[in-house]
Amino acid sequence: MPDDVRPLEQTAPLIDPFARAITYLRVSVTDRCDFRCVYCMAEDMTFLPKSEVLSIEELERLCRAFVRLGVRKLRLTGGEPLVRRGVITLIERLGSLINLGHLDELTLTTNGSQLARHSDALFKAGVRRVNVSLDTLDPDKFTAITRWGNLGKVLEGLAAAKAVGLAVKINFVALKGVNEDEIHQLVEWAGTEGFDLTFIEVMPLGEISADVGTANRVNQFFPLSMVRAKLKERWALEETNHATGGPARYWTVQETGQRLGFITPLTHNFCEACNRVRLTCTGTLYMCLGQEDASDLRAPLQTSEDDSLLDEAIREAITRKPKGHDFIIDRRRTAPAVDRHMSVTGG
Ligand code: SAM
Ligand code: SF4
Repeated sequence: MPDDVRPLEQTAPLIDPFARAITYLRVSVTDRCDFRCVYCMAEDMTFLPKSEVLSIEELERLCRAFVRLGVRKLRLTGGEPLVRRGVITLIERLGSLINLGHLDELTLTTNGSQLARHSDALFKAGVRRVNVSLDTLDPDKFTAITRWGNLGKVLEGLAAAKAVGLAVKINFVALKGVNEDEIHQLVEWAGTEGFDLTFIEVMPLGEISADVGTANRVNQFFPLSMVRAKLKERWALEETNHATGGPARYWTVQETGQRLGFITPLTHNFCEACNRVRLTCTGTLYMCLGQEDASDLRAPLQTSEDDSLLDEAIREAITRKPKGHDFIIDRRRTAPAVDRHMSVTGG
C-alpha cells in the first residue's frame, strides 16, 4: 500500500516538561527566497548547498513522524516555500493525511509571488488557508522593502487564492517610518477583500546588514502598542479570546467584521501556551524560535529506514523545550538575539 493512503499508527502524544502538548509543526522547506526583505535577509545571502537540504521524500517522512506523534497542524514556510522544487508533491502527499483524519490542517506562509500559479493545486491538495506577507500597497515601497519583489504579481496571487476559495491572512511587519502611515489603508483594504490581517513586530533574528544606519532593527522597530493606539482613533476594535497557541492576540474590527492579530513577541510574553516546534530544511528541530538549542533529526532519519530512532530523537528533543524565549531589542544591544535568520526557521 503506498504510504500516503496507509493509516498511521498513532503513539503517545508529545508533552513537554511544562505540560504543553506539541500539536503544531512548522517546516521550513527551503532557506531560499525570490525576495530579499530588508528586515529578513541581507541582500547578498549565502544559501545552503543543495546537498545539505533534505529531499522532498525525507521532509515528508519527518512530517509523517510528527503527525504519528500527535501533531495536528502543519505549516510549510521558508524561505519561500513555493520556490522549492517538488513542494506541490509534498503538499499533495501531506494533504492526504487530512482525508485520513490524521491531520486537522495543512497550511503555508508565503510571500505570494507564486500564488497565481499554485493556488488551484493547493486547494485541491487540501490547503484551505494561507498566510501571505504584504507590508505595503505602494508598488515602489514594496520594491524597496522586498528589494526584488513585484507588488502586481503578489496582488495577482492574492486574487487567485481568493478565487479558488483559500482563506487569506495578511502578515504585515510594522516598520517605523516606512509603512506606519498605511495601517488604516491596510485595514480598509483587507476588510474589502475579506482577508484577516496580522501586524508583526520586527524580531531580532539574524544579521541583516553591516550598515547600521538604514537596516538596523532598532531603527525598524515600531511597537504594536502604537499601531493599536493609532487604529483605535479610527476603528472600533473589540478584543476577542480567539487563540492559536501562538504569539498573536486578536481583535475584531466592528466596521468590517474582520479579525486583526497583533504578534508582539518583544513586548509580551506569549510562551505559556506554546504548542509548536520548528523544523529546518536540513532536519534541525528548534524547540523555540527565540533560543539556540536544537536537535538534529537528520542523522536518525538517514541512518535507519525504520522510524524508531527518529521517534526517539523527537521525544528526546521535546524534553528540552524551554519555558520561553528572551528576545531583547534595545539601543544598547544591536546584535541579533539569535544568529539564524527568520528564513531558516520560517517564523
Ligand atoms: N517567505 C515567506 C513569507 O515571507 O511569508 C515565508 C517565510 S517568512 C521568514 C515568514 C514571516 O516572517 C513573514 O511574514 C515575514 O514578514 C516574517 N519575518 C521575517 N523576518 C522577520 C523579522 N526579523 N521580524 C519579524 N518578522 C519577520
Ligand atoms: Fe523571503 Fe519571506 Fe524573508 Fe521576505 S520575509 S525575504 S519573502 S523569506
